[in-house]
Amino acid sequence: MNSKDTLKHAGKRKQLVNILIEKGIKNKGVLSAISKIPRHLFMDSSFEDHAYQDKAFPIAADQTISQPYTVAFQSELLQISNGDNVLEIGTGSGYQTAVLCELGAKVYSIERQKELFKKTKLFLSKLGYRPKHLSFGDGYKGLVEYAPYDSIIVTAGAPFVPKPLLSQLKINGRLVIPVGDDVQIMTLFVRKSETQFEKREFGEFRFVPLLENRN
Ligand code: SAH
Repeated sequence: MNSKDTLKHAGKRKQLVNILIEKGIKNKGVLSAISKIPRHLFMDSSFEDHAYQDKAFPIAADQTISQPYTVAFQSELLQISNGDNVLEIGTGSGYQTAVLCELGAKVYSIERQKELFKKTKLFLSKLGYRPKHLSFGDGYKGLVEYAPYDSIIVTAGAPFVPKPLLSQLKINGRLVIPVGDDVQIMTLFVRKSETQFEKREFGEFRFVPLLENRN
């Protein structure tokens, strides 16, 4: 297994951060998280050379680790403050989870693939990341036990906006969700009141699909 983080890796991360800055990412906390997290350890060691390119990559169970720019873009939209309660749908490799932890969030994350859920839970704790709760289950339902959340991030392409996610937001809470089938529009919802949500759209992205639970 892949386990080392070296100065060479840190150097490559610095180059990646510069690419993200060129692409318009400004949030200091987000850039600092990406400069610290050993992304190569989140992928199979044979793909190590790809870890610090700004590209999505295959991980276990036919899933992908999101492109660094996408992770940065979504994380920036969340506007996380230290101690925020944040729910992530689609734990996957745990890379986005690690970014949220570095931003000082109390992180809750859900994954529907058992294999990935188990693997990532073990891996994040080995790396020293301590999300509040990693859950195996269906993200369409959110995680009502720990609601309401300051923000919710969906890291798979959602064919529609699941109602439970909107209802589990605090007032002024933010939901960042890529909505669409083949191509997704990055969409931000800000909860203005019990019943009102402000919606903004931020261009096209491509994700693996958010799947309905068939268990
Ligand atoms: N945040 C991840 C991105 C992984 S890709 C990372 O940084 O690596 C999206 C993930 O969403 C996949 O692991 C997939 O299994 C998961 N997923 C898809 N549908 C889901 C659902 N309904 N509930 C929870 N997770 C889901």
